[in-house]
Amino acid sequence: MIDERRLKILTEGAKYDVSCSSSGSKRKNEGGMGNGYVAGCCHSFTPDGRCVSLLKILLSNDCVYNCRYCPNRLDADVPRVSATPEEIAELTVDFYKRNYIEGLFLSSAVEKSPDYTMERLVRTVKLLRTQYRFHGYIHLKGIPRADEALVREAAQYADRMSYNIELPSEQSLKLLAPQKSKESLLLPMKQLAGEALVFRREKRKGLFLPAGQTTQMIVGASPEKDGQIVRLTQSLYRNMGLKRVYYSSYVPVVRDSLLPDLPAGQLREHRLYQADWLLRFYGFTAEEIAPENENLPLDLDPKCAWALRNLQLFPVEVNRAPLETLLRVPGIGGRSAQKILEARKYTTLTFEHLKKMRVVLKRARHFITANGKFYGAKSETAVRGLLAAGENSENAMQMSLFAERETALSALTGEL
Ligand code: SF4
Repeated sequence: MIDERRLKILTEGAKYDVSCSSSGSKRKNEGGMGNGYVAGCCHSFTPDGRCVSLLKILLSNDCVYNCRYCPNRLDADVPRVSATPEEIAELTVDFYKRNYIEGLFLSSAVEKSPDYTMERLVRTVKLLRTQYRFHGYIHLKGIPRADEALVREAAQYADRMSYNIELPSEQSLKLLAPQKSKESLLLPMKQLAGEALVFRREKRKGLFLPAGQTTQMIVGASPEKDGQIVRLTQSLYRNMGLKRVYYSSYVPVVRDSLLPDLPAGQLREHRLYQADWLLRFYGFTAEEIAPENENLPLDLDPKCAWALRNLQLFPVEVNRAPLETLLRVPGIGGRSAQKILEARKYTTLTFEHLKKMRVVLKRARHFITANGKFYGAKSETAVRGLLAAGENSENAMQMSLFAERETALSALTGEL
């Protein structure tokens, strides 16, 4: 059994990874324990957005790599510990039975070599699935440069895997994570995406990574701009079929002359998540969201910023605009757009109707007409000022937990 000291070090070491989210798995219970399929594939988030319902742990913090930003890097003076696959499997089942957790997020430092570490990670999930018949959710970190066969085997037992890109350019990887390279991170992602496709096409029995792949990028440790990060994200969604890209504001946990002394602000991370929503659900391209060499504006969400840059396209008439145009109106999210499409089949919509339908008009009114009526501000400067003021008060309200219903809902769902 794993002792408390190692448990503390190994869980502490995993806490900076935010690429865990348990949605989307299809693993059902077929006679054992747990269930990664029903809503219970269970995650909850601390106020700062970290997932807490999975046992989040490292198999080892004893790393032969030397990523400058990492507290477990080779030349860091920290106690080194490892657990065995048997210990982690036993601990997971024990915690699960006590109702502490619903699943496992297992990562590891590169102990001895990529293959040695990956083999132990695979052995852990295999033990859980075969010996303990554990059907709960498992998210496994992939080790860059590990053998292809091990990667394939891991995908047969895990629900989700992730290779963390961490730094958004080859140049920054060379500087801050010299043992990693763009190729060593993208190749296994590509391998998994390709094999998952074949698996589905050939309708093979069993499961192959049912919850897909995710990755994480650190924001603000290196000089890349948001425009570059959003382009990389777009290419990961398009070419690797990733389920999610997570962004983690840089926090200076270790001192290094190549790293900034100050943390990157949470607001920058928040804006990147909003841009991510625009890519995934609103039909925007990275090129529309931000120029490659610029950051996203902090005073406005990226959808408002885009609308202000394209004022010649507005206002749009809500009774005629197609879905893809409605989705580009600041304040109109996916659910509101659908409600508008449905309601206008039966009547000509007015602002009163929209209000009753709980469409957030505070932002939208500057960009729409309803039955020919326009209630927005007349000049770009006035619109910008009102949107920025609204943004500030919404941020404050969201923080205070006393937000009005639509604003609170938008904060929870991320709709823009
Ligand atoms: S590979 Fe890099 S990021 Fe991962 S534990 Fe080792 S030093 Fe840290």
